[in-house]
Order: sequence, then structure tokens, then C-alpha cells
Amino acid sequence: MSSFDLEVVDGLKLSEEHRALLRPGEPVEDENGKGHHLPRFFYAVPSWPKAHETPLTPHFKLAELMTVDCREADVLLNQFPHYVPCAVLLIARYLEDLRREADSVVFVGANGGYRSAAHQRNEPKSPHCWATAADIYRVGTGYLNDEKSITKYSEMAEALGPQVFVRPYTNGDDHLHIDLGYVTVTPRDCSEA
Ligand SMILES: [Zn+2]
Repeated sequence: MSSFDLEVVDGLKLSEEHRALLRPGEPVEDENGKGHHLPRFFYAVPSWPKAHETPLTPHFKLAELMTVDCREADVLLNQFPHYVPCAVLLIARYLEDLRREADSVVFVGANGGYRSAAHQRNEPKSPHCWATAADIYRVGTGYLNDEKSITKYSEMAEALGPQVFVRPYTNGDDHLHIDLGYVTVTPRDCSEA
């Protein structure tokens, strides 16, 4: 297994174009009108092959939590490096725990992991902008597209700890959203000064 060796970058030192899209450290409002600061420190991902081979946990690769579609800003979608908030390691750990509890493979959808602040599905801002959320659409061979299956894995995810938020089932859901809230990570070697 290859090791985790991605470079950490301070978002405030990125190009003007990237800062305008990622808005590192900027205050924003969530869907309830509460204020939070967007993440500032990111892993620089040099290519898709690198994302596919970079382990976050024994069973989750970085690529699984950064797949987005054309609703992502063009520069962020098509140019490398891609930048993913450092907290992505935390949600991966909870997904790993859920995988163990479910005793089955947990699948996160496209747009279901990290989405930048510029992503069209992020108005208002959701924990997906912090890379602390995951939309799970399948566990093993079962799709999470009805109340029974979503509730089953909701309860399993909630049992991982009080820090895990699980969005209750609403009619028509085709995935289970879990998140850890607006967690930001400052790696040990970084300065917030
Ligand atoms: Zn979600």
C-alpha cells in the first residue's frame, strides 16, 4: 500500500483565482443562517492516479471523497493540483468505522464527498465544503433508496458517536448524508498566524 504523502498548502497562499473559488478561511453562512469559517489548509492532489492510490484509511482512497461533476467550478474540476481540505481524513475514519460495523463495502457518490465552496450544490454552504460530509448511496449490494435501508445505516452511523450528524430520511432520498459538522484541521507544521 502506498503511503499518505500529499503536500499541505495554506489556502491563503494560493493564486488569486483559486482563492476566489475556495475562499480559504472566509466567513460564510449555513442553511440555518449560522456563521462558519471555510477551511484554510488543503492537501494538494497532483493527479487522479495519485488520488486513486492515496489511502485515507485502510479501505478508503482519497479519490472516493473528491469526485465531482460539471457543477464544480471549471478550474477546480479540470486543473491539477486539486485541493482538498485536511479534515477529509476525519470523515474517512468514520466511514471506515461504518464499514466495519456494516461488515460491508460503503460507497460514496459523485458530489457526495468534498465539494468546494464554488460548487453549485453548495448554496448555502454545507459541511461538504469542509470535506467532513459523505453521501452514501450503497452499502454492499444494497442501495440506500428507501426509508428502511437509510434508517438502518443511519442508526449504525449515529452509534459511532455524538459528533456524527445523520440527516433523517425524507421522502425520495437516494442516499444517506452523514457529517461531522464544520470541523477545520490545522496540520501540525502549519501556522495560522
Ligand atoms: Zn450530503
